[in-house]
Amino acid sequence: MKRESIISQLQDEDKVFDFLVIGGGATGLGVALDAATRGYSVALFERSDFTKGTSSRSTKLVHGGVRYLAQGDVGLVREALRERGLLRHNAPHLVKDQLFLIPCYRWWEGPFYTIGLVLYDLMARKLSLGRSVCIGPKRASRTIPTLRRQGMKAGVLYHDGQFDDSRLAINLVHTAIEAGACILNYMNVTALLKEDGCVCGVQVQDEENGREYRVHSRAVINATGVFADEILQMDKPGKRPAVRPSQGVHLVLDASFLESDCAVMIPKTSDGRVLFAVPWHNKVVVGTTDTVMEHAEIEPIALEKEIQFILDTAGNYLTRTPKRSDVLSVFAGLRPLAAPRSEGKKTKEISRSHKLFREKSGLITIIGGKWTTYRKMAQDTLDYALRYIHLPTYDCVTENYQIHGTRPNPDFSDPLYVYGTDADDIRVLINSSPEMKERLHPDYAYTKGEVLWLIRNEMPRTLEDILARRLRILFLDARAAMQVAPVVVGLLARERKKDEKWQAAQLEDFNSVASHYILN
Ligand SMILES: Cc1cc2nc3c(=O)[nH]c(=O)nc-3n(C[C@H](O)[C@H](O)[C@H](O)COP(=O)(O)OP(=O)(O)OC[C@H]3O[C@@H](n4cnc5c(N)ncnc54)[C@H](O)[C@@H]3O)c2cc1C
Repeated sequence: MKRESIISQLQDEDKVFDFLVIGGGATGLGVALDAATRGYSVALFERSDFTKGTSSRSTKLVHGGVRYLAQGDVGLVREALRERGLLRHNAPHLVKDQLFLIPCYRWWEGPFYTIGLVLYDLMARKLSLGRSVCIGPKRASRTIPTLRRQGMKAGVLYHDGQFDDSRLAINLVHTAIEAGACILNYMNVTALLKEDGCVCGVQVQDEENGREYRVHSRAVINATGVFADEILQMDKPGKRPAVRPSQGVHLVLDASFLESDCAVMIPKTSDGRVLFAVPWHNKVVVGTTDTVMEHAEIEPIALEKEIQFILDTAGNYLTRTPKRSDVLSVFAGLRPLAAPRSEGKKTKEISRSHKLFREKSGLITIIGGKWTTYRKMAQDTLDYALRYIHLPTYDCVTENYQIHGTRPNPDFSDPLYVYGTDADDIRVLINSSPEMKERLHPDYAYTKGEVLWLIRNEMPRTLEDILARRLRILFLDARAAMQVAPVVVGLLARERKKDEKWQAAQLEDFNSVASHYILN
C-alpha cells in the first residue's frame, strides 16, 4: 500500500482499465476486490480517506438484521445471514461471535422473540453462530448485571456477528491490491469522460498536489453512497435524486455501563426502532437513530434530539442512567438509502436491500445495502456490469477468498488482534527500540511502534486518518484522541518529511473534527 508507487500506474493515459470504481467505502472496495480477484484490471478512487464516509460509522454488527425479519424482509435477512457466515469464515480475525440479550418486561415478549430468533437461527442454516434461548430474569441479570431488574419477565439470548468496520476496509484494500487492483485515497473524481455519449473513464484530481489524471475504463461504477447523486449529476445534470440520506447516531460509553461481554438489544424503542448497546474495543457503542437529512455531509453532526433520545432510551433499561458527561465519543453516519418512489414513506420502512441501475451513458450505480452484504453487492454489481460490456466472463471467487490478515482462532484479548497476521510484523517494530515501545496514552495500549507500522503500511495521509480510522481512538474516546494527537502528528511528519507548519495545520484540522465527537 505505497501511494506514490500506485499513482505511477496512472501515468500511462493510453491504459484502459476493465473497471473503474468511484468511492472507497464498503461498497466500492468490495467491487474492486471482486473485479481484481476475477482477473480483471481495476482502479478505485476515494476522494478522502477509505471509509471516511458511512463505512466507518456503523453499529459494528455483521448481522442478518433481526429488525428486517420483523418487517417481513425474509429475502434480505437470509442473504445477510449467509454473508455473515461467509465473512466470519473469510476474516476470522475481525468478525467475532457476539452474544446479545433482549430484556423482556411483558409476559408475551419472551416467547414471541424466542420464536422469531429460533427462525433467525434456522434461516442461517449451517452458518448459524449459536442457538437462541429464552432465559429467566435471574439469569438475564447475571448475564448483564447493569440491566434494570424491576419488572423483568424474561430474557432472550441470541448470536450475531461484530466487527471493526474501518479495519476490515483497510484489509480489503490490502487484499485487492495484492490481487492487482490500483486503489488510491485522496483522489477526487471531478468529471466523467465520454465518447459518443458513453462513459469511458473519469477525470481525477490528486487532492494532495492538485495534479489531474484522465483514466480510461470499459465500465465505470458509481459506489459513492450518499454522494451518488453528485456523480449522477455529472452524467446528466438535473436528474431526480436517487439517494435519501438517513442519519444514525451512536454514543460511546465506558464498559462499566454494561459490565458484560454480552450486548443488549432493545427491540422496540419509543420511535419504533431497535437500540443496541454493543461492547466494542473495551467500550460500549449505543445507538442508533434514523433521521432524514436534506443534504449529505462527509462529516455529519449528531443532532441534540438524537443524543437525548439515546441517553433517555438507554436510561430506561440500565440501572445507571448515562449522562452527557459519561459520553466518551459521539459519531453520526448517513445511510445511503434508495429514495422511495412514493413520498411520505418513513426511512425505517425503506428497504435496506441494495439497488443497481445503469444510465444511458453506461454509468452503473450501486446504492443501499449494508456492510454485512458488501461481498454479495459486489458480486451482483460485477455480474450486472458484465452483461453490458464486451469482456470475457469470469466467475466470482470471493465466497471463499481469505481477506488479508486472516488468522484462524484469534486471541481477542490481544490488543493487536485486529491486525491478524500483520500483528507479528507490528510486534517486531514495537520491540525494535525503547521509543517504539512507548505508549501514546496511559489508558490505552497503543504504542508508537504500532503507529509507525500503520503509517508505513496502511496509506494514512493525515492525522485524522490515523486517529479515526486506523487506531479508532477518535471513535472510542475523543478527548484521549486529542491528547495523543501531538505525538502522532510528530511521527507522521517524520515519516512523510513534513515541516512544523504542516504539523500545526494537521493538528488544527484534527481538533476541529474531533470537537464534534465531544459532548459539552
Ligand atoms: C448509523 C449506521 C449504522 C449502520 N450499522 C450497520 C451495521 O451495524 N452493520 C451493517 O452491516 N451495516 C450497517 N450500516 C450500513 C453500512 O454502514 C453502509 O451500508 C455502508 O457503509 C455504505 O457504504 P458505501 O461504500 O456505500 O458508502 P460510503 O462508506 O459513504 O462510501 C462512499 C465513498 O465515496 C466517496 N466519494 C464520494 N464522492 C466521490 C468522488 N467524487 N470521488 C471519489 N470518491 C468519492 C466518499 O468520500 C465515501 O468515502 C449502518 C449505517 C449507518 C448510517
